[in-house]
Amino acid sequence: MDAQSSKKQPVALYPGTFDPVTLGHLDIIRRGARIFDHLIVAVAENPGKSPLFSAEERASMILHEIDILENPSRCKIEVITYNSLLMDCVESHSASVILRGLRAVADFEYEYQMAGMNQQINNKIETVFLMADCVLQPVASRLVKEIAFYNGNIKPFVSPHVAEKLQEAMEQKRKASLLAKA
Ligand code: ADP
Repeated sequence: MDAQSSKKQPVALYPGTFDPVTLGHLDIIRRGARIFDHLIVAVAENPGKSPLFSAEERASMILHEIDILENPSRCKIEVITYNSLLMDCVESHSASVILRGLRAVADFEYEYQMAGMNQQINNKIETVFLMADCVLQPVASRLVKEIAFYNGNIKPFVSPHVAEKLQEAMEQKRKASLLAKA
């Protein structure tokens, strides 16, 4: 067996808030699945970001999409939730690659800083960036939530299942804000 064929395939971990998962995120997962044999989608609880959905709800929406995701190379895709330092999560799952998506210049500075700091915490872990399809690059969970709150069309940005969950959550939010005003 030569050195190349005995090389261990890295486990990649794709962390994010996924509040909720968009077609942009799913495109990164699909592309990551083509490159890696084992991909862990790690949903950060991120209470600081006051997510609309609980970590379990976000993970369950991702699992639903993964069941129907185009995955011809049969990459093993897992979904987990975590509430710790990203590096601790990466190490506890024996991952050696952090997968991140890059959208526009606006993302670059934050991603650059995060990758640089993570490198200082553990220099053996590499951050790999992928770009989503051009049409999906501008899609952001934050904007999708804003559109959904005002009953706009979110179909181009999320799956039908996620759109349904978002509409239900927004209905509750609108009711709560009406009650607060009354
Ligand atoms: P975080 O709070 O970690 O930024 P997000 O859910 O917003 O969590 O994003 C997770 C990752 O997915 C980030 O690397 C982000 O840049 C990437 N991402 C989100 N939306 C897109 C998109 N439309 N195209 C490419 N990458 C994306």
